[in-house]
Amino acid sequence: MSSTASGTNGTWRNWGGNVTARPAREVTPASVDELAAAVRRAAEDGLTVKAVGTGHSFTSIAATDGVLIRPQLLTGIRNIDRDDMTVTVEAGTPLKRLNMALAREGLSLTNMGDIMEQTVSGATSTGTHGTGRESASIAAQIRGLELVTADGSVLSCSEKENPEVFAAARIGLGALGIVTAITFAVEPVFLLTAREEPMPFDKVLADFDELWAENEHFEFYWFPHTGSTTTKRNNRSAGPAKPVSPVAGWIEDEFLSNGVFQAAQWVGRAVPATIPTIARVSSKALSARTYTDIPYKVFTSPRRVRFVEMEYAVPREAVTGALRELKSMVERSGLRISFPVEVRTAPADDITLSTASGRDSAYIAVHMVKGTPYQGYFTAAERIFTAHEGRPHWGKVHTRDAEYFAGVYPRFGEFTELRDRLDPDRRFQNDYLRRVLGS
Ligand SMILES: Cc1cc2nc3c(=O)[nH]c(=O)nc-3n(C[C@H](O)[C@H](O)[C@H](O)COP(=O)(O)OP(=O)(O)OC[C@H]3O[C@@H](n4cnc5c(N)ncnc54)[C@H](O)[C@@H]3O)c2cc1C
Repeated sequence: MSSTASGTNGTWRNWGGNVTARPAREVTPASVDELAAAVRRAAEDGLTVKAVGTGHSFTSIAATDGVLIRPQLLTGIRNIDRDDMTVTVEAGTPLKRLNMALAREGLSLTNMGDIMEQTVSGATSTGTHGTGRESASIAAQIRGLELVTADGSVLSCSEKENPEVFAAARIGLGALGIVTAITFAVEPVFLLTAREEPMPFDKVLADFDELWAENEHFEFYWFPHTGSTTTKRNNRSAGPAKPVSPVAGWIEDEFLSNGVFQAAQWVGRAVPATIPTIARVSSKALSARTYTDIPYKVFTSPRRVRFVEMEYAVPREAVTGALRELKSMVERSGLRISFPVEVRTAPADDITLSTASGRDSAYIAVHMVKGTPYQGYFTAAERIFTAHEGRPHWGKVHTRDAEYFAGVYPRFGEFTELRDRLDPDRRFQNDYLRRVLGS
């Protein structure tokens, strides 16, 4: 199954299958010069421009009816600086390739999300994050950025160079320019011990502050229609490495987490009334396990069941209340939810439109299997999240607009003013940006 967004008959489609677009033309530049020329040519033709990654966003943030810029020929490592402990990569590089190249060099990113299919520019542009007590999103690990702006010129930024651009462009929503290279902080590769174990929902919520405080990376999945969760604690370890054995890994990660999960989704989709029973069985299927490995092998895993997702960041102290409301909403509603709810955290960061900008945050993600109606569930969940001043993930389904964002992001005006300066003619505009940033 391909993990990248595909195009047939000129139609571009995202991974979740819920967004399509028909660009006027597609280009696949092989250098920064070619990319800058493509932006200038689009301006001459009166077309808008949008770079895409691998189409893993569930919103229409990457959709365009103008010029679609493909990432495939702008990939690879430009430079590793062992004095500064940074790596500079071409913007279209998939995270998987970056992680593997860094591991070969004895290096690693500090934190990352659940998968590594996305491009580095696509992942950071929407604020992709994992879970962490001190360590934040992938964009928060950026030390420098290079971008082609609307007039076709190349702009570099960092804390020292064009700092006002750096503050916003690390999570730029594709609105400020086309990113061509990213410099990330790296550290010597380290080991993480993962401990996965079931825990009752009420206990996780009662102990949430301790579980968060005692672990570098704490997260859990709650199975709707049950009082069960699976918790995950990842902490640095002196070793030795003790990877999941290939057989156990296949049984747990492929057979149970992907294969049986997929079959359960099919049954649930065909006969929704079976979902609560399936949920009770699935929540018991994964038993406790502990393993120790390098970061990307612990943080990420394949996701073969296609789904659609909404995720909101709420102030960390609001998360247990919001989850109790979510659980009672599901119980009252008659909805049948076959997909676990994922809960993660991030410390406050300094990026203008990061979902964790200026506030310690917790993330609540709701999912529905691809092809099932998700609006009823997502609308009810969104009502709970927005009542807690939630900030939606820029790449995951939501219905919020510029007026809402001006209320939940104290620095919203800073971002739109920078956009007015860098892209006065809205070369990088699309319908999504018109909604979330205003025209
Ligand atoms: C199975 C799955 C698992 C996921 N897991 C997580 C997770 O654990 N944590 C999390 O936070 N999110 C997660 N996501 C969401 C995903 O990480 C984001 O939506 C991410 O933005 C997708 O990256 P992409 O490369 O596919 O970019 P796309 O979705 O193709 O594009 C996203 C945005 O980036 C812009 N962009 C791409 N390249 C450039 C460039 N060169 N210059 C400027 N703008 C650019 C696009 O224009 C668009 O605005 C997941 C999604 C899926 C489908």
